[in-house]
Amino acid sequence: SVQEQEQQLTDGFHLVIDALKLNGIDTIFGLPGIPITDLTRLAQAEGMRVISFRHEQNAGHAAAAAGFLTQKPGICLTVSAPGFLNGLTALANATTNCFPMILISGSSEREIVDLQQGDYEEMDQLNAAKPFCKAAFRVLHAQDIGIGIARAIRAALSGRPGGVYLDLPAKLFSQTMEAEAGRRSLIKVQDPAPRQLPAPDTVARALDLLKGAKRPLILLGKGAAYAQADAQIRELVERSGIPYLPMSMAKGLLPDTHVQSAAAARSYVLAEADVVMLVGARLNWLLSHGKGKTWGAVPKQFIQIDISPTEIDSNVPIAAPLIGDIGSCVAALLDGIGAGWQKPPAEWTSAIAQRKDKNLSKMAQTLEAIVAPMNFHSALGVVRKVVQERPDAVIVNEGANTLDYARSIVDMYEPRKRLDVGTWGVMGIGMGFAVAAAVTTGKPVIAIEGDSAFGFSGMEVETICRYELPVCIVIFNNNGVYKGTDVNASGGSDPAPTVFVKNARYDLMMTAFGGHGVTATTPDELGRALREAVASGRPTLINAVIDETAGTESGRITNLNPQRAATKK
Ligand code: ADP
Repeated sequence: SVQEQEQQLTDGFHLVIDALKLNGIDTIFGLPGIPITDLTRLAQAEGMRVISFRHEQNAGHAAAAAGFLTQKPGICLTVSAPGFLNGLTALANATTNCFPMILISGSSEREIVDLQQGDYEEMDQLNAAKPFCKAAFRVLHAQDIGIGIARAIRAALSGRPGGVYLDLPAKLFSQTMEAEAGRRSLIKVQDPAPRQLPAPDTVARALDLLKGAKRPLILLGKGAAYAQADAQIRELVERSGIPYLPMSMAKGLLPDTHVQSAAAARSYVLAEADVVMLVGARLNWLLSHGKGKTWGAVPKQFIQIDISPTEIDSNVPIAAPLIGDIGSCVAALLDGIGAGWQKPPAEWTSAIAQRKDKNLSKMAQTLEAIVAPMNFHSALGVVRKVVQERPDAVIVNEGANTLDYARSIVDMYEPRKRLDVGTWGVMGIGMGFAVAAAVTTGKPVIAIEGDSAFGFSGMEVETICRYELPVCIVIFNNNGVYKGTDVNASGGSDPAPTVFVKNARYDLMMTAFGGHGVTATTPDELGRALREAVASGRPTLINAVIDETAGTESGRITNLNPQRAATKK
């Protein structure tokens, strides 16, 4: 009968879902539309979590963050051309940050696209994606879906993780094949991120350098956080006695209150260290490319642990490259740090401690000082306390000043609890990252957002309310980009380009969708609202009113703004 025949058949829709599930992927972040609407419905029917967004870029950022947090590629599913392009920004950002994700986009028919005959949402997506990701694949036949997804997973996770594009033309979904053959065509990827052991001579070289150091420093990056080698990394730091600095997303790998943290003496240790060991951190702009004033006059020798051999010598010579996965490299170093190990000279560690104490007590004063209107310090002083009470909460952070101040003021206590603008310093990750953090961890999420940064993904407050996620958004509202006091130099009636509507009530955006909205003008009000939100798990937006004169142009990276060379035309 027709019915029996149908039971023995499978199709492209089912094969995509089955292949993902077979590989332990249980969540899709996306936005339905032609030709993938039914795929989202079927995925949900088959027990996957489908989180549907309002804009693909945010779904893509969510997939990237999920990849970073779980070591499984986050999946972003979009429609063709414009939806694909919206997701592509997130795919490029994920690749830049070494986060594993797969952007799966439906596409128009190859025959029409290649002849440029003007199909609905026509675009050569595969080629458009290639420069922006680690790998790109297209599947044309149902029997290749299993291989396509296996290749995408392996490309995303193995070696240096990154973004992968998978192109699925509309016609593929309705192709049928015999169900049993379909099952056999699927691949469960074995060992998608195989361990890579460092060569013993490279370990010995690194240890020699460390042993000879008078002022050693360990620099932990988000690669170290991603690697989930938390216990070993902590043991390496503690057994070696070497002071360490966390890059922003490595904060919490060891608690920021750890005695060996040199974060509060950052400029001092970067300038004065003689041997610096990078663990999953690149010497890019965030570290002044390893040279210049930041790194001081003391000659440096670098040890660099990285899975990607081509990262070595990218900016300055690396004396001791250690190529392998962080878990294996750290384990190998630990083997060499045995009974006879000499901790760093007390001169070095006590000089750091002195500077730290001075800077920390100076900061403590600024956190208490101003009550109303709040500034960044007084508002973040409150956030800092709440995070201390709830170290399990995930912090998402974007903005200019809001980012810079929060990064240094809000201590983190557990690994992978801080998600931020990353390698590009990109705005717009906020709500996507917040949704992913809530969905993948089930923990409370606090999104610390500049008012400008929030604007890039603000519509996702509806998504947060729809899925009833335990996300509390705190908007640092100072009426504009950087600050709210710029004036139009022409004397015209348009506001200055950096200024927003004054005293905007962002909290009402949340109540529009059934969430909880609060305006806070004092640290007390902010603290009460934030504690309540974290305790209740209810979607909340706190409009934290900040002095509009607070804030500096571009925060701490003002120097990246080109200077005007001439005053007149
Ligand atoms: P940060 O911005 O925190 O300094 P980066 O993103 O610049 O960190 O650096 C992360 C580095 O970690 C990348 O060079 C990447 O190749 C590396 N990496 C990622 N995962 C691993 C891993 N499992 N083992 C070793 N290195 C890794």
